[in-house]
Amino acid sequence: MNTLRLILCILILFVTSLLISIPQVALAQLALLPVASPLSDDATIFSPPLGYHNGIKYGPRYTYDNGGALIENTDYGVTNPDLSHYSDCFAIEMRYLIHAGEDWYRPDRSPANSDEVTAVADGIVYDYDTRWSYPGYAVILQHTLPSGNVYSVYMHIENVPSGISNGQPVYRGQKLGTILQQNYDGRYPQYHGTDDSHLHFEMRYFASANGIYSDHPPCNKGDAAGRGYTYPGYPPDTYPNSSQHYTDPTTFVQSHSGSFLPLIMVPPCNQGSTLIMNGNFEQGRVYWIDTGNIILNNVRRHGGSWSAWFGGYNSAYDVMYQVFNVPRGATSVSLTYYVWIETNETSPNAYDYLRVQLRNETGSLLSTIDMLSNASTKGTWLTRPFNINTSQYLGQYLRLSFEATTDATMFTSFYIDDVSLTLNCSGANSLPQEGTESETVATQQVESSNPVTLPRKPTATPATPHPYP
Ligand SMILES: [Zn+2]
Repeated sequence: MNTLRLILCILILFVTSLLISIPQVALAQLALLPVASPLSDDATIFSPPLGYHNGIKYGPRYTYDNGGALIENTDYGVTNPDLSHYSDCFAIEMRYLIHAGEDWYRPDRSPANSDEVTAVADGIVYDYDTRWSYPGYAVILQHTLPSGNVYSVYMHIENVPSGISNGQPVYRGQKLGTILQQNYDGRYPQYHGTDDSHLHFEMRYFASANGIYSDHPPCNKGDAAGRGYTYPGYPPDTYPNSSQHYTDPTTFVQSHSGSFLPLIMVPPCNQGSTLIMNGNFEQGRVYWIDTGNIILNNVRRHGGSWSAWFGGYNSAYDVMYQVFNVPRGATSVSLTYYVWIETNETSPNAYDYLRVQLRNETGSLLSTIDMLSNASTKGTWLTRPFNINTSQYLGQYLRLSFEATTDATMFTSFYIDDVSLTLNCSGANSLPQEGTESETVATQQVESSNPVTLPRKPTATPATPHPYP
């Protein structure tokens, strides 16, 4: 009996000590583990292409005007309102093109010309061809990861060392050249100095960009580096196709840096809190990113003096979006906006469209929340309420995007005002579900039923022809 008790006691002690020791072992293992990279095949370490030896943290540049509106954005996957040139091959003003890489500047805005550009990782030179100017040269490196090849692209560089030639190995931190001096020629000289020296830096899952512009053959100029931009409707992270595409360079380098700890700061879900800023546009062109000439003063509005005017001219492609974060614990977001439609179209068929869309941080379409056209109810303010399920986007940054297109004749105008996007932290919500038609017509008088001449939106400043891209 005593022996049995002793054995039982020892057994209990043993099991108890095991239970206590397991979490300690787990903790010890966690402490020893290298900081986890989001990718399991992270055998190659990546570093930024600038600042490797001088320690300066370079990066994309954001410039705001005196009213706080973003007028320059050199980040990845966005349009840059500051660009003044016309793209011959895309046949569009460059400020409407989507940046396929990032333009890196010095953080203090001092000139970055002659600063050293280095290889982001070990690899081989895939392409360096002095016949092409971007201006300056471009170097493409190939890096082999267990999952396949990835390519880094460096444009607007000079003083490329003789060791940088096709097929030659390079190591991380090896000099590829220096940044070319360039003068500023954007649309907002009052906010800039004269210098515009920068590195155009891309990360992508394809080697040569020659031949990828299937819809724009003039852009296939024979060089491997490519044009540095893609065109609206083709988000760069899915272009040229889903398996071979551009990717966010900063995100890629950080997530492969070997020491990057993704500290994702997500605010707690706060029931009813507002997710977008300046939804009534009364602060002007602030917080929203747009293709230009959309957020306007003293045009038709639901309240205040500012609103957003989409279309109003033929062959329009107007886009306006704002990025918001979906906190963990959120179940849905409630969207309401007001829209007034007027059209020169005489047919009951739809030709001109307004779409409200949810896109991810880099612009890929997630869902279409609302679609109206010249065939929808006109001449009155429509209230458009939606409840958008966000359970699969927790912790993510999303774009709420308004996009309008008009065909070549008889344009339509879509006036938008008083956009609100609020957070729901519990499941209960009485608003209609995403995508349902819910035209709540406001009690305002319909304007003249025979619109002879509808206002036409004034056009923006004409573009300057330029050879690039
Ligand atoms: Zn660029």
